[in-house]
Amino acid sequence: MTILVVEDDERIASFLAKGLRAEGYATSIARHGEEALALTSVLGDDIDLILLDLGLPDLDGVALLRTWRDRHLAVPVIILSARDRVEAKVAGLDAGATDYMTKPFSFDELLARIRAALRPAGQLGLTLLEAADVRLDLLSKVAWRQGRRIDLAPREWALLELFMRHPTQVLSRPQILNRVWEYGSDPGTNIVDVYVGYLRRKLNRPGLPQLIQTVRGAGYRLLPPTLAGGPHDG
Ligand code: CA
Repeated sequence: MTILVVEDDERIASFLAKGLRAEGYATSIARHGEEALALTSVLGDDIDLILLDLGLPDLDGVALLRTWRDRHLAVPVIILSARDRVEAKVAGLDAGATDYMTKPFSFDELLARIRAALRPAGQLGLTLLEAADVRLDLLSKVAWRQGRRIDLAPREWALLELFMRHPTQVLSRPQILNRVWEYGSDPGTNIVDVYVGYLRRKLNRPGLPQLIQTVRGAGYRLLPPTLAGGPHDG
């Protein structure tokens, strides 16, 4: 899951990015409105949620939000602002914000609001994600395969969650890199392959099919066991 943090205050931006990464979210930071617009143009649907400060050096956050909504960017946006007047909240929500939090804020509350904003419509209270024979508890961040608990590091968790949210879809290495690591970061040429390797080792059980398949020249995909009966790779 990728969160775009639009925040000109260096201290708050790095606090947010650090905290979100520790929770397994990939983050990108935009420090002014034009940069945020450029990033949303490039990443589009690869962004899962936006945290938006209102007092930006070049554009007002509410104007930025209106521009996104005019361009049909449907990503949930949580406004995070020191403006605590009712009028500001009404204007923000009416411009298309999903939620509004005032600064100073509790990080735990922000995480809960992020989870709520990311919950698919019609799945109120959903905390479990299931695909193939794997189950993820999104609240406690615990994974199981066929009832056996798997302990994952934050990046491994983020990678598995990405696969679980797109079962059977082939995900390219750049797509995975953008959604699990930071956009534009170059953490090393084969980091995706390395982490897929870690994840496979943790998911593998003797006698059970390999869940994450290599699609030559395209990337990787998670397959339900019924479809994963062919020759196993990795
Ligand atoms: Ca600001």
